[in-house]
Amino acid sequence: MPIRTIVWGENVHEQSNATVAGLYPDGMHGCIAAALNTGAGISAETATLQEPDHGLPEVRLAATDVLIWWGHAAHGDVADRVVERVAGHVWAGMGLILLHSAHFSKIFKRLMGTPCTLSWREAGERERLWVTSPNHPISAGLPDHFELENEEMYGEPFGVPEPLETIFISWFQGGEVFRSGLTWRRGAGNVFYFRPGHETYPTYHDANVQKVLRNAVRWAHNPAERLRDVSQAPNRPTGAAPEPITERGPKLHKPGEEGFR
Ligand code: ZN
Repeated sequence: MPIRTIVWGENVHEQSNATVAGLYPDGMHGCIAAALNTGAGISAETATLQEPDHGLPEVRLAATDVLIWWGHAAHGDVADRVVERVAGHVWAGMGLILLHSAHFSKIFKRLMGTPCTLSWREAGERERLWVTSPNHPISAGLPDHFELENEEMYGEPFGVPEPLETIFISWFQGGEVFRSGLTWRRGAGNVFYFRPGHETYPTYHDANVQKVLRNAVRWAHNPAERLRDVSQAPNRPTGAAPEPITERGPKLHKPGEEGFR
């Protein structure tokens, strides 16, 4: 069975900015999904902010192996209930890939627990991405570095928790550097942040970027069955303990009472 992938696009700039619409007539999400579908074993569809439930109802997420997220202008318009739904699926084993300005998305901040801040400059400068983990599945088939002629600069410090692995470090023409490919594990879910992808440049048409995205989908896919009830915190009554014990000492909770959370 192919890796069932959804590319989620905010789909705002494509509708409001002529440059972005010209570069991505099918939306950035459409361009990325088409690039993924050229890869063996990947089946990619799209979802957008404007759809009911932002295109991410429970039944669809339950049948999704990897979710890719691009957002920028409308992070605040993403419903909190959908953010919590996505977080629950990541904890249960769904892969999540965050692109570029998704560093400030609700779902990324929810999963990182930190401000996810950085510095930035929109000057069309050259970005050189160095592979820092040459043996990693996400960098498979790439040269030791590759360049994007025009990109937005993102600079350190990047306000995220120390990653599991650093796959790329970017250098920008103006001199700044940035950890541009980072992985984390959240619950049973694999999480990857990939920096390039400013909407006014043709980044998602770049062959190396497309290769990274296909590699990342395969890496993020957790083939194990999705965990159930990851947010449950059940009480185990004394009588259900694996070894027989006698209750002793004072108690806060009455028998059968729900725990606080
Ligand atoms: Zn940008």
